[in-house]
Amino acid sequence: MRQESTIAQVGTRTDPQTGAVSPPIYHAATYQHPGFGQSTGYDYTRTANPTRVILEREIAKLEGGTHGFSFSSGMAAVANVLSLLNQNDHLIASDDLYGGTYRIVEQLFRRFGVDASYVDTSDTQAISNAIRPESKAIFIETPTNPMMKISDIREIAQIAREHNLLLIVDNTFMTPYCQQPLALGADIVLHSATKYLSGHNDVLAGLVVTGKPDLAERIAFIQNSVGAVLGPQDCWLTMRGMKTLALRMERQQENALAVATWLTTHKNVRAVYYPGLAEHTGRFVHQQQSNGFGGMLSFTVDSEQRVIQVLEKIAMVIFAESLGGLESMITFPARQTHADIPIEIRERQGITNTLLRMSVGIEHIDDIIADLDQALCDSI
Ligand SMILES: *Cc1c(COP(=O)(O)O)cnc(C)c1O
Repeated sequence: MRQESTIAQVGTRTDPQTGAVSPPIYHAATYQHPGFGQSTGYDYTRTANPTRVILEREIAKLEGGTHGFSFSSGMAAVANVLSLLNQNDHLIASDDLYGGTYRIVEQLFRRFGVDASYVDTSDTQAISNAIRPESKAIFIETPTNPMMKISDIREIAQIAREHNLLLIVDNTFMTPYCQQPLALGADIVLHSATKYLSGHNDVLAGLVVTGKPDLAERIAFIQNSVGAVLGPQDCWLTMRGMKTLALRMERQQENALAVATWLTTHKNVRAVYYPGLAEHTGRFVHQQQSNGFGGMLSFTVDSEQRVIQVLEKIAMVIFAESLGGLESMITFPARQTHADIPIEIRERQGITNTLLRMSVGIEHIDDIIADLDQALCDSI
């Protein structure tokens, strides 16, 4: 079955008793034992909940893995996966990473003795150079957030295998509709399902998938031990959103390409970062591993005043943190998502005070461009 069809059928045929097309929500914390030493397969919801199991199976299917796990946020998913590391282990991560992931590594896991190096993972040699005897895992995002740099998942998976490192891919930006990292050799794929997967800015959720039974067992142990699981109502909301993922992504990437192309011609815009643009440096590698360019782009404007002007003047496009929902949104990474990254590092990566990140929504393209046009105008 094509991915669009699997996506449209998320959660169907999961309730043989009634045939309910929409998956049932089991608001049960605990389950009656049928007899002494017996279990229905469900004992306590922190360990397993029937609604959650449906979502976990569906995401595993979409990512081409065998075991899925859901969490109360994307960060809970990241924390769970990073908890596979031990004291004195070394992590190699993209230098242009979601700010919250950088923060949890630097301010939490470092306290427990995990060391980390941040390298430009779009340069595979830089990853090889960073490997030490204590290295245990590589954590990448591709495209990166917010600079849209592309890392070669196949090549990095090869290095990871040679050095016995885990390759973890945060696939939030591309979703399994456009990119399936496990098939390219990654060991673990994770998501902030708050973004494209749920797609409606109404639920916070995290998902993890692996195809390796030993890793699955360790992740399940941590999930149950920590208990940052996704509640049944939110599992249902996530699935409800996922069903239209293919349609939304198609429209969002079509709109994103049009916005990116238009921005390149605007006199108050200095640079546009979108893998779908012919001049994007990672475009070729991206096309080898994905079947779409996604709905995210970043651009720089001519001054810091222009940033403020744009954020104050946008009328339909929303000035807000987050991405991947139906509505077009603009974020100011230096002050919002990436504020916890030290300024020297941020500036070096291009996350300057003139950079804006846009999550292009499903509105009519003419309205999106008209709104950006009036917001970017020369009134200052
Ligand atoms: C938002 C985001 C996260 C964190 O997810 P939450 O659901 O906000 O906890 C992690 N990675 C990426 C790429 C994100 O965009």
